[in-house]
Amino acid sequence: MKVTLPNGLLDGQDLFNTAIIDELRGRQQNYLADRELVIGNIGHIPKILSDCIKSLETAEGVQWKGDMKDAVEKLSAGDIEILLIKIRENTYGERFYFEAQCTHCEHKNKNLRLNLNELELDPIPVAEMLDKSRVTFTLPKSQVEVELKPLFLKDLFESIKIMKNKPDRLVTSAVALSIKRIGTKTKITSEDIDELPSKDIIFLKEKLEATKLEGTIDTNITVECTGCGKEFESKLDVYSSDFFDPSKGSTSTTT
Ligand SMILES: [Zn+2]
Repeated sequence: MKVTLPNGLLDGQDLFNTAIIDELRGRQQNYLADRELVIGNIGHIPKILSDCIKSLETAEGVQWKGDMKDAVEKLSAGDIEILLIKIRENTYGERFYFEAQCTHCEHKNKNLRLNLNELELDPIPVAEMLDKSRVTFTLPKSQVEVELKPLFLKDLFESIKIMKNKPDRLVTSAVALSIKRIGTKTKITSEDIDELPSKDIIFLKEKLEATKLEGTIDTNITVECTGCGKEFESKLDVYSSDFFDPSKGSTSTTT
């Protein structure tokens, strides 16, 4: 299956934004059954991606020559999400059944159906991706320049570690993951954000909301509750190993 990535891998002059993907096979089923990899973790994701991406190509058909494991590290979250969705689709088809709890009345809506091939893509033009001025801001209080960045695979692992081990640092850690540099300092951690004035942190959060840092696939789903009739938003969790459960496809879930 051929997949067009909303961002792609930029290497020198070449943008590798077409992926040729395989389906899940026995080897990947082993990853999904490995509790250490998947329970409260996303260890299966780099393994599935580097196995299932058969080739990364430019629009002109030039192939990425490096190790696929390195390529996976350089893909942003939007690309990772669409690749996981397309690998699922290529394996079991586009149909996907899920459950979602209503945010108004807490009713558990079951057997909700979604067609994975109908999720909307929101790509980012290369010129915008390369334009640093779009993602560079001066903090209002400390008057230092900050540059924002999308999340990469290591940031996704980091955010899971933070939620598990340091829930008290959630605010500053989440902001830190999306910052490429503060002034001339790179490798930003939550300790750097701890030192910032609150006014600057609020400014940063607003900018993170409003700035398009990468191309994405829309995994938000609007559900009409069968309990109270109101609409609520649910999000497809493509990072859970459960996303690759075949029972979510061909027939409805029975539990
Ligand atoms: Zn409801």
